[in-house]
Amino acid sequence: MAGILILGGGFAGLIAAEKLSRALGSEDHITMVSRCRQFTFYPALVRLAFGDCEPDDITFDLFEKLHRMDVRFVEGECLQIDPDNCRARITGNDFSGEIKYDHLIIAMGRRLATEKIRGFFEHAHHLLGIKEAMEFGEEVRTFERGDIVVGLSPEAFLPIPVCETAFALARRFKDEIERKEISVTVTFPEHIRRAFGGARLHLELTRAFAKHGVRLLTKFAAREIRANELIGFGNKVIRYDLLMLVPPFRGHPAVDKLEATDDSGFLGVDKYMRVQGLKKVYAAGDVTSFHGPKLASLAVRQAEVAAANVLSEIRGEIPSMTYRHEIAAIIDQGAESIYLNYGVWNNALYRLHKGSLWSLVKRTHNKLWRVIHEGL
Ligand SMILES: Cc1cc2nc3c(=O)[nH]c(=O)nc-3n(C[C@H](O)[C@H](O)[C@H](O)COP(=O)(O)OP(=O)(O)OC[C@H]3O[C@@H](n4cnc5c(N)ncnc54)[C@H](O)[C@@H]3O)c2cc1C
Repeated sequence: MAGILILGGGFAGLIAAEKLSRALGSEDHITMVSRCRQFTFYPALVRLAFGDCEPDDITFDLFEKLHRMDVRFVEGECLQIDPDNCRARITGNDFSGEIKYDHLIIAMGRRLATEKIRGFFEHAHHLLGIKEAMEFGEEVRTFERGDIVVGLSPEAFLPIPVCETAFALARRFKDEIERKEISVTVTFPEHIRRAFGGARLHLELTRAFAKHGVRLLTKFAAREIRANELIGFGNKVIRYDLLMLVPPFRGHPAVDKLEATDDSGFLGVDKYMRVQGLKKVYAAGDVTSFHGPKLASLAVRQAEVAAANVLSEIRGEIPSMTYRHEIAAIIDQGAESIYLNYGVWNNALYRLHKGSLWSLVKRTHNKLWRVIHEGL
Protein backbone atom coordinates (compact mmCIF):
# COMPACT_ATOMS: atom_id res chain seq x y z
CA MET A 1 0.00 0.00 0.00
CA ALA A 2 1.52 3.36 -0.98
CA GLY A 3 -0.49 6.39 0.12
CA ILE A 4 0.63 9.88 1.01
CA LEU A 5 4.24 10.63 1.90
CA ILE A 6 5.15 13.86 3.67
CA LEU A 7 8.85 14.73 3.78
CA GLY A 8 9.64 17.03 6.71
CA GLY A 9 8.12 17.52 10.15
CA GLY A 10 8.24 21.30 10.52
CA PHE A 11 5.41 23.80 10.19
CA ALA A 12 4.46 22.78 6.65
CA GLY A 13 4.76 19.01 7.19
CA LEU A 14 2.80 19.04 10.43
CA ILE A 15 -0.05 21.15 9.07
CA ALA A 16 -0.30 18.96 5.95
CA ALA A 17 -0.36 15.80 8.10
CA GLU A 18 -3.07 17.22 10.36
CA LYS A 19 -5.28 18.36 7.54
CA LEU A 20 -4.96 15.11 5.61
CA SER A 21 -5.42 12.79 8.57
CA ARG A 22 -8.48 14.75 9.74
CA ALA A 23 -10.07 14.41 6.29
CA LEU A 24 -9.06 10.83 5.56
CA GLY A 25 -8.94 9.10 8.95
CA SER A 26 -7.53 5.63 8.39
CA GLU A 27 -8.94 5.63 4.85
CA ASP A 28 -5.54 6.39 3.33
CA HIS A 29 -2.08 5.59 4.53
CA ILE A 30 -0.10 8.71 5.57
CA THR A 31 3.62 8.57 6.37
CA MET A 32 5.81 11.41 7.54
CA VAL A 33 9.58 11.15 7.24
CA SER A 34 11.59 13.70 9.14
CA ARG A 35 15.23 14.02 10.05
CA CYS A 36 14.28 14.99 13.55
CA ARG A 37 11.67 13.50 15.88
CA GLN A 38 11.15 16.85 17.51
CA PHE A 39 8.99 19.73 16.32
CA THR A 40 10.59 23.11 17.03
CA PHE A 41 8.67 26.37 17.19
CA TYR A 42 11.40 28.46 15.54
CA PRO A 43 9.86 31.93 16.01
CA ALA A 44 10.51 31.56 19.76
CA LEU A 45 14.27 30.95 19.37
CA VAL A 46 15.19 34.59 20.02
CA ARG A 47 13.23 34.42 23.28
CA LEU A 48 15.04 31.17 24.11
CA ALA A 49 18.42 32.82 23.49
CA PHE A 50 17.50 35.65 25.85
CA GLY A 51 16.32 33.30 28.59
CA ASP A 52 12.58 34.06 28.25
CA CYS A 53 11.63 30.41 27.74
CA GLU A 54 13.07 26.89 27.98
CA PRO A 55 13.67 24.35 25.17
CA ASP A 56 10.77 22.21 26.47
CA ASP A 57 8.39 25.18 26.06
CA ILE A 58 9.04 25.38 22.32
CA THR A 59 9.46 21.75 21.24
CA PHE A 60 7.37 18.61 21.27
CA ASP A 61 7.62 15.01 20.20
CA LEU A 62 6.28 14.37 16.70
CA PHE A 63 6.08 10.60 17.03
CA GLU A 64 3.53 10.74 19.88
CA LYS A 65 1.50 13.43 18.20
CA LEU A 66 1.37 11.64 14.83
CA HIS A 67 0.67 8.26 16.40
CA ARG A 68 -2.55 9.70 17.86
CA MET A 69 -3.46 10.88 14.37
CA ASP A 70 -2.85 7.48 12.71
CA VAL A 71 0.08 8.93 10.77
CA ARG A 72 3.17 6.75 10.59
CA PHE A 73 6.32 8.61 11.62
CA VAL A 74 9.73 7.59 10.31
CA GLU A 75 12.78 9.29 11.74
CA GLY A 76 15.12 9.48 8.78
CA GLU A 77 16.63 11.59 6.08
CA CYS A 78 15.39 11.74 2.53
CA LEU A 79 18.38 11.33 0.22
CA GLN A 80 16.66 11.20 -3.13
CA ILE A 81 13.26 11.47 -4.75
CA ASP A 82 12.48 9.46 -7.87
CA PRO A 83 9.29 11.03 -9.27
CA ASP A 84 9.18 8.72 -12.30
CA ASN A 85 8.76 5.67 -10.07
CA CYS A 86 7.06 7.52 -7.16
CA ARG A 87 9.68 6.56 -4.58
CA ALA A 88 11.80 8.37 -2.03
CA ARG A 89 15.08 6.97 -0.73
CA ILE A 90 15.36 7.26 3.03
CA THR A 91 18.14 6.56 5.47
CA GLY A 92 17.87 6.52 9.24
CA ASN A 93 17.74 4.43 12.37
CA ASP A 94 14.02 3.66 11.98
CA PHE A 95 14.26 2.66 8.35
CA SER A 96 16.68 2.58 5.44
CA GLY A 97 15.41 1.97 1.94
CA GLU A 98 12.74 3.24 -0.43
CA ILE A 99 9.24 4.39 0.41
CA LYS A 100 6.67 4.33 -2.36
CA TYR A 101 4.01 6.98 -2.59
CA ASP A 102 0.90 7.85 -4.56
CA HIS A 103 1.04 11.50 -3.48
CA LEU A 104 4.05 13.37 -2.18
CA ILE A 105 4.34 16.60 -0.18
CA ILE A 106 7.87 17.96 0.12
CA ALA A 107 8.25 20.11 3.24
CA MET A 108 11.93 19.78 4.14
CA GLY A 109 12.56 23.47 4.80
CA ARG A 110 15.87 25.08 3.89
CA ARG A 111 19.51 24.16 4.33
CA LEU A 112 21.83 26.58 6.12
CA ALA A 113 24.66 27.21 3.66
CA THR A 114 27.24 28.43 6.19
CA GLU A 115 29.97 27.32 3.78
CA LYS A 116 29.06 30.25 1.49
CA ILE A 117 30.69 32.67 3.95
CA ARG A 118 34.33 31.93 4.68
CA GLY A 119 35.07 31.80 8.40
CA PHE A 120 31.41 31.41 9.43
CA PHE A 121 31.96 28.12 11.22
CA GLU A 122 34.99 29.41 13.14
CA HIS A 123 33.77 32.85 14.18
CA ALA A 124 30.02 33.43 13.84
CA HIS A 125 27.02 32.53 15.93
CA HIS A 126 23.54 32.01 14.57
CA LEU A 127 20.34 31.12 16.39
CA LEU A 128 18.54 28.89 13.94
CA GLY A 129 18.42 25.86 16.22
CA ILE A 130 17.92 25.15 19.92
CA LYS A 131 21.60 24.45 20.62
CA GLU A 132 22.82 27.41 18.57
CA ALA A 133 20.34 29.82 20.16
CA MET A 134 21.40 28.72 23.64
CA GLU A 135 25.09 29.07 22.79
CA PHE A 136 24.54 32.59 21.48
CA GLY A 137 22.45 33.38 24.59
CA GLU A 138 25.32 32.26 26.81
CA GLU A 139 27.71 34.63 24.99
CA VAL A 140 25.23 37.48 25.51
CA ARG A 141 24.89 36.69 29.23
CA THR A 142 28.64 36.94 29.77
CA PHE A 143 29.24 39.92 27.45
CA GLU A 144 30.46 43.00 29.29
CA ARG A 145 32.01 45.47 26.88
CA GLY A 146 32.61 45.87 23.13
CA ASP A 147 30.87 45.72 19.76
CA ILE A 148 28.00 43.37 18.95
CA VAL A 149 26.99 42.86 15.34
CA VAL A 150 23.83 41.06 14.22
CA GLY A 151 23.08 40.65 10.56
CA LEU A 152 21.43 39.00 7.63
CA SER A 153 23.69 37.35 5.02
CA PRO A 154 22.94 37.65 1.33
CA GLU A 155 20.22 35.11 0.41
CA ALA A 156 19.26 34.54 4.02
CA PHE A 157 15.52 35.05 3.78
CA LEU A 158 14.86 35.62 7.46
CA PRO A 159 14.93 39.26 8.64
CA ILE A 160 12.64 38.91 11.69
CA PRO A 161 15.06 37.24 14.14
CA VAL A 162 17.76 39.69 13.07
CA CYS A 163 15.54 42.65 14.01
CA GLU A 164 14.29 40.95 17.19
CA THR A 165 17.83 40.09 18.31
CA ALA A 166 18.96 43.69 17.79
CA PHE A 167 16.00 44.99 19.84
CA ALA A 168 16.51 42.38 22.56
CA LEU A 169 20.20 43.36 22.81
CA ALA A 170 19.24 47.04 22.97
CA ARG A 171 16.87 46.30 25.88
CA ARG A 172 19.40 44.13 27.71
CA PHE A 173 22.31 46.58 27.32
CA LYS A 174 20.36 49.87 27.49
CA ASP A 175 22.62 51.46 30.11
CA GLU A 176 25.85 50.16 28.58
CA ILE A 177 24.82 51.50 25.14
CA GLU A 178 24.12 54.92 26.68
CA ARG A 179 27.50 54.87 28.44
CA LYS A 180 29.10 53.79 25.11
CA GLU A 181 30.55 50.66 26.70
CA ILE A 182 28.65 48.43 24.28
CA SER A 183 27.56 49.09 20.70
CA VAL A 184 24.96 47.15 18.76
CA THR A 185 25.01 47.21 14.94
CA VAL A 186 22.44 45.54 12.69
CA THR A 187 23.28 44.80 9.04
CA PHE A 188 21.21 43.92 5.99
CA PRO A 189 22.66 42.89 2.60
CA GLU A 190 20.31 45.18 0.69
CA HIS A 191 17.66 47.73 1.55
CA ILE A 192 15.50 46.60 4.49
CA ARG A 193 12.44 46.86 2.30
CA ARG A 194 13.77 44.08 0.06
CA ALA A 195 14.35 41.78 3.03
CA PHE A 196 10.61 42.06 3.77
CA GLY A 197 9.50 41.29 0.21
CA GLY A 198 8.97 44.97 -0.68
CA ALA A 199 6.91 46.00 2.37
CA ARG A 200 7.46 49.65 3.31
CA LEU A 201 8.17 49.13 7.00
CA HIS A 202 11.75 50.38 6.70
CA LEU A 203 10.76 53.79 8.07
CA GLU A 204 9.33 52.27 11.27
CA LEU A 205 12.32 49.97 11.70
CA THR A 206 14.90 52.68 10.97
CA ARG A 207 13.23 54.96 13.53
CA ALA A 208 13.03 52.16 16.12
CA PHE A 209 16.69 51.16 15.68
CA ALA A 210 17.78 54.81 16.08
CA LYS A 211 15.59 55.28 19.16
CA HIS A 212 17.18 52.24 20.84
CA GLY A 213 20.72 53.28 19.96
CA VAL A 214 21.18 50.47 17.41
CA ARG A 215 23.38 51.41 14.44
CA LEU A 216 21.81 50.32 11.15
CA LEU A 217 23.94 49.37 8.13
CA THR A 218 22.12 48.46 4.93
CA LYS A 219 23.70 47.19 1.69
CA PHE A 220 26.34 45.36 3.68
CA ALA A 221 26.66 41.95 2.01
CA ALA A 222 28.82 39.76 4.24
CA ARG A 223 31.25 37.51 2.38
CA GLU A 224 33.95 36.57 4.90
CA ILE A 225 34.44 36.49 8.66
CA ARG A 226 37.76 36.79 10.42
CA ALA A 227 38.46 37.01 14.13
CA ASN A 228 36.81 40.34 15.13
CA GLU A 229 36.19 41.43 11.51
CA LEU A 230 33.13 40.98 9.35
CA ILE A 231 34.04 41.64 5.73
CA GLY A 232 31.52 42.64 3.10
CA PHE A 233 31.69 42.85 -0.68
CA GLY A 234 33.63 45.94 -1.74
CA ASN A 235 35.98 45.20 1.18
CA LYS A 236 33.84 47.04 3.71
CA VAL A 237 34.86 45.92 7.20
CA ILE A 238 32.92 45.97 10.48
CA ARG A 239 34.67 45.26 13.76
CA TYR A 240 32.91 42.95 16.19
CA ASP A 241 33.46 41.24 19.53
CA LEU A 242 30.29 39.18 19.27
CA LEU A 243 28.66 38.29 15.96
CA MET A 244 25.28 36.72 15.17
CA LEU A 245 24.70 36.24 11.47
CA VAL A 246 21.82 34.46 9.75
CA PRO A 247 23.64 32.38 7.10
CA PRO A 248 22.61 32.05 3.44
CA PHE A 249 19.76 29.62 2.70
CA ARG A 250 19.76 26.91 0.08
CA GLY A 251 17.45 24.08 -0.94
CA HIS A 252 18.25 20.44 -0.13
CA PRO A 253 20.40 18.26 -2.40
CA ALA A 254 17.56 15.70 -2.45
CA VAL A 255 15.23 18.15 -4.22
CA ASP A 256 17.90 19.64 -6.48
CA LYS A 257 17.83 16.57 -8.72
CA LEU A 258 14.14 17.07 -9.47
CA GLU A 259 15.04 19.69 -12.09
CA ALA A 260 12.34 21.97 -10.74
CA THR A 261 14.57 24.20 -8.64
CA ASP A 262 15.74 27.79 -8.94
CA ASP A 263 19.43 28.82 -8.75
CA SER A 264 19.43 28.45 -4.96
CA GLY A 265 17.84 24.99 -5.01
CA PHE A 266 14.29 25.99 -4.00
CA LEU A 267 11.36 24.27 -5.68
CA GLY A 268 9.24 26.12 -8.21
CA VAL A 269 5.53 25.51 -7.60
CA ASP A 270 2.34 26.67 -9.29
CA LYS A 271 -0.52 28.41 -7.48
CA TYR A 272 -1.88 24.99 -6.39
CA MET A 273 1.51 24.26 -4.73
CA ARG A 274 2.25 21.54 -7.29
CA VAL A 275 5.92 21.17 -8.09
CA GLN A 276 6.44 22.37 -11.64
CA GLY A 277 6.53 19.60 -14.19
CA LEU A 278 5.81 16.75 -11.76
CA LYS A 279 2.63 14.78 -11.26
CA LYS A 280 1.20 14.27 -7.76
CA VAL A 281 4.13 16.06 -6.15
CA TYR A 282 3.44 19.13 -4.01
CA ALA A 283 5.75 21.32 -1.94
CA ALA A 284 5.18 23.74 0.91
CA GLY A 285 7.18 25.94 3.25
CA ASP A 286 10.76 27.15 3.11
CA VAL A 287 11.65 24.54 0.48
CA THR A 288 9.65 26.49 -2.14
CA SER A 289 10.87 29.32 -4.34
CA PHE A 290 8.91 32.50 -3.57
CA HIS A 291 10.03 36.10 -3.48
CA GLY A 292 10.55 37.62 -0.05
CA PRO A 293 11.13 36.25 3.44
CA LYS A 294 10.56 32.62 4.37
CA LEU A 295 8.05 32.51 7.21
CA ALA A 296 6.13 29.98 9.28
CA SER A 297 2.86 31.77 8.49
CA LEU A 298 3.53 31.24 4.77
CA ALA A 299 4.54 27.59 5.32
CA VAL A 300 1.26 26.96 7.14
CA ARG A 301 -0.89 28.44 4.38
CA GLN A 302 1.07 26.70 1.64
CA ALA A 303 0.67 23.37 3.45
CA GLU A 304 -3.09 23.94 3.78
CA VAL A 305 -3.31 24.54 0.03
CA ALA A 306 -1.10 21.54 -0.82
CA ALA A 307 -3.07 19.23 1.48
CA ALA A 308 -6.45 20.43 0.15
CA ASN A 309 -5.33 19.78 -3.42
CA VAL A 310 -3.93 16.33 -2.59
CA LEU A 311 -7.36 15.55 -1.11
CA SER A 312 -9.02 16.72 -4.33
CA GLU A 313 -6.77 14.44 -6.38
CA ILE A 314 -7.53 11.47 -4.11
CA ARG A 315 -11.25 12.12 -4.57
CA GLY A 316 -10.86 12.30 -8.33
CA GLU A 317 -11.51 16.05 -8.40
CA ILE A 318 -9.43 18.78 -10.02
CA PRO A 319 -7.23 20.64 -7.52
CA SER A 320 -8.80 24.05 -7.00
CA MET A 321 -7.43 25.67 -3.85
CA THR A 322 -4.96 28.42 -4.72
CA TYR A 323 -2.23 30.15 -2.75
CA ARG A 324 -1.77 33.92 -2.31
CA HIS A 325 1.65 35.12 -1.23
CA GLU A 326 0.85 37.42 1.73
CA ILE A 327 3.16 38.08 4.63
CA ALA A 328 1.66 38.11 8.13
CA ALA A 329 4.34 38.60 10.74
CA ILE A 330 5.06 40.15 14.10
CA ILE A 331 8.39 41.74 14.96
CA ASP A 332 8.59 41.57 18.74
CA GLN A 333 10.24 44.69 20.09
CA GLY A 334 8.43 44.98 23.39
CA ALA A 335 6.17 48.03 23.73
CA GLU A 336 6.60 49.03 20.07
CA SER A 337 6.10 45.65 18.44
CA ILE A 338 5.06 45.66 14.80
CA TYR A 339 2.39 43.57 13.08
CA LEU A 340 2.82 43.48 9.30
CA ASN A 341 0.36 42.13 6.76
CA TYR A 342 1.63 42.62 3.22
CA GLY A 343 0.68 41.21 -0.16
CA VAL A 344 3.94 40.42 -1.98
CA TRP A 345 1.92 39.80 -5.16
CA ASN A 346 -0.48 42.64 -4.40
CA ASN A 347 1.17 45.56 -2.67
CA ALA A 348 -2.18 47.32 -2.30
CA LEU A 349 -2.48 45.03 0.74
CA TYR A 350 -0.40 46.74 3.40
CA ARG A 351 -1.37 46.83 7.06
CA LEU A 352 0.96 47.83 9.81
CA HIS A 353 -0.03 48.00 13.48
CA LYS A 354 2.17 48.87 16.42
CA GLY A 355 1.97 48.33 20.14
CA SER A 356 2.74 46.03 23.06
CA LEU A 357 -0.35 43.95 22.25
CA TRP A 358 1.52 42.42 19.31
CA SER A 359 4.36 41.33 21.56
CA LEU A 360 1.80 39.60 23.76
CA VAL A 361 0.14 38.00 20.72
CA LYS A 362 3.48 36.63 19.51
CA ARG A 363 4.41 35.27 22.91
CA THR A 364 0.99 33.70 23.40
CA HIS A 365 1.01 32.24 19.90
CA ASN A 366 3.76 29.80 20.86
CA LYS A 367 1.66 28.48 23.77
CA LEU A 368 -1.50 28.40 21.69
CA TRP A 369 0.26 26.55 18.87
CA ARG A 370 1.39 23.95 21.37
CA VAL A 371 -2.09 23.45 22.80
CA ILE A 372 -3.65 23.16 19.34
CA HIS A 373 -0.96 21.14 17.56
CA GLU A 374 0.67 19.04 20.27
CA GLY A 375 -2.84 18.47 21.48
CA LEU A 376 -2.10 17.09 24.95
C1 LIG B 1 15.19 32.05 14.71
C2 LIG B 1 14.00 32.01 13.80
C3 LIG B 1 12.97 32.93 13.98
C4 LIG B 1 11.87 32.93 13.14
N1 LIG B 1 10.87 33.83 13.34
C5 LIG B 1 9.75 33.76 12.58
C6 LIG B 1 8.65 34.61 12.85
O1 LIG B 1 8.69 35.44 13.74
N2 LIG B 1 7.53 34.46 12.08
C7 LIG B 1 7.44 33.55 11.08
O2 LIG B 1 6.38 33.45 10.43
N3 LIG B 1 8.48 32.74 10.79
C8 LIG B 1 9.63 32.82 11.51
N4 LIG B 1 10.68 31.99 11.24
C9 LIG B 1 10.65 31.16 10.02
C10 LIG B 1 9.91 29.86 10.21
O3 LIG B 1 10.33 29.17 11.35
C11 LIG B 1 10.11 29.00 8.96
O4 LIG B 1 9.64 29.72 7.86
C12 LIG B 1 9.34 27.70 9.10
O5 LIG B 1 9.93 26.90 10.09
C13 LIG B 1 9.29 26.96 7.78
O6 LIG B 1 8.58 25.77 7.96
P1 LIG B 1 8.95 24.49 7.08
O7 LIG B 1 8.03 23.42 7.52
O8 LIG B 1 9.02 24.85 5.65
O9 LIG B 1 10.45 24.15 7.50
P2 LIG B 1 11.01 23.70 8.91
O10 LIG B 1 10.17 24.20 10.01
O11 LIG B 1 12.46 24.08 8.87
O12 LIG B 1 10.89 22.12 8.88
C14 LIG B 1 11.65 21.34 7.99
C15 LIG B 1 11.54 19.88 8.43
O13 LIG B 1 12.16 19.04 7.46
C16 LIG B 1 13.03 18.14 8.13
N5 LIG B 1 14.08 17.81 7.15
C17 LIG B 1 15.06 18.60 6.66
N6 LIG B 1 15.78 17.93 5.76
C18 LIG B 1 15.26 16.70 5.67
C19 LIG B 1 15.57 15.55 4.90
N7 LIG B 1 16.57 15.53 4.02
N8 LIG B 1 14.80 14.45 5.07
C20 LIG B 1 13.77 14.44 5.95
N9 LIG B 1 13.44 15.50 6.70
C21 LIG B 1 14.16 16.61 6.55
C22 LIG B 1 13.52 18.90 9.34
O14 LIG B 1 14.00 18.02 10.35
C23 LIG B 1 12.23 19.61 9.75
O15 LIG B 1 11.40 18.74 10.49
C24 LIG B 1 11.78 31.97 12.09
C25 LIG B 1 12.81 31.03 11.92
C26 LIG B 1 13.91 31.05 12.76
C27 LIG B 1 14.99 30.02 12.56
